Amino acid sequence: MKASVSLVTPLLLIEGKRSDWPVLPKQRDKEFNDFYTTPSEALLYTFYATTKKDVDEALISHIEEIRKVRNQIVHGISRTRLNPKFLVDKILDTYLFFKGKDAWWEAVSGFHFNHPLTGYYDLSIETAQFAERLDYALNMVGKSKMAKHFAINLRGRSYFCPKCLQDYVRGVGEDYKYAWAFLTPNSASSTSVTCLNCGNENKVIRQPCPYDGCKGNVLYRIEDLSKFNDASVALTDEAPEAMEDEHGFCLTCQENIWWKVQEI
Ligand SMILES: [Zn+2]
Ligand SMILES: [Zn+2]
Repeated sequence: MKASVSLVTPLLLIEGKRSDWPVLPKQRDKEFNDFYTTPSEALLYTFYATTKKDVDEALISHIEEIRKVRNQIVHGISRTRLNPKFLVDKILDTYLFFKGKDAWWEAVSGFHFNHPLTGYYDLSIETAQFAERLDYALNMVGKSKMAKHFAINLRGRSYFCPKCLQDYVRGVGEDYKYAWAFLTPNSASSTSVTCLNCGNENKVIRQPCPYDGCKGNVLYRIEDLSKFNDASVALTDEAPEAMEDEHGFCLTCQENIWWKVQEI
């Protein structure tokens, strides 16, 4: 809100008499930080007096709720027990109110992955840790609330991201647990998945997974098999002889998949 008010003038954030505003000649300069600034209660009024946005009752309630909780913590001996669910919920809503969908995730992940030390530890692990954050937020607020905060449709089934999964399994050698890729568009015939965590979009093959017990039908091909005759490409869960590397894997069960292929 302060940033928005400052677009008009930061002087409106100063609490006190206008005659104290250092705007006329011969007035003594004063550091902006030395002024008392608008208390949070009045900030909402200044914000709506200056913004071009329509008044939003939901935003007003949101700000008031946070302001009161904050005052209880800072100025009183609060009996209110704050829990992570409340905090995560309010943080997500604050981003949504002021910046719109995806803003929370862009801020959180951008802060880390635009940092010069990104990857210094291990990029695949760092990326997985961010997927774990998505899992955490999802567990806190639930799927329908979480879905409000992203442009990608989170209500659809989620799949393992080919990039996040491969990087992690190759780098760490353990199973990958975080499924944050979604069909784009979310339809039965869709042939690509987009990962909310890493932002990558990958082509997928829509064929039933050959493994018993897996109902998945979104497969990822590591190798480019376009040089093969497509009609002869059939799925198999057994590695053909003399073929060491898998052709791909199922984005539901992670199991390796080979395609029986015949060169054109
Ligand atoms: Zn990913
Ligand atoms: Zn499968």
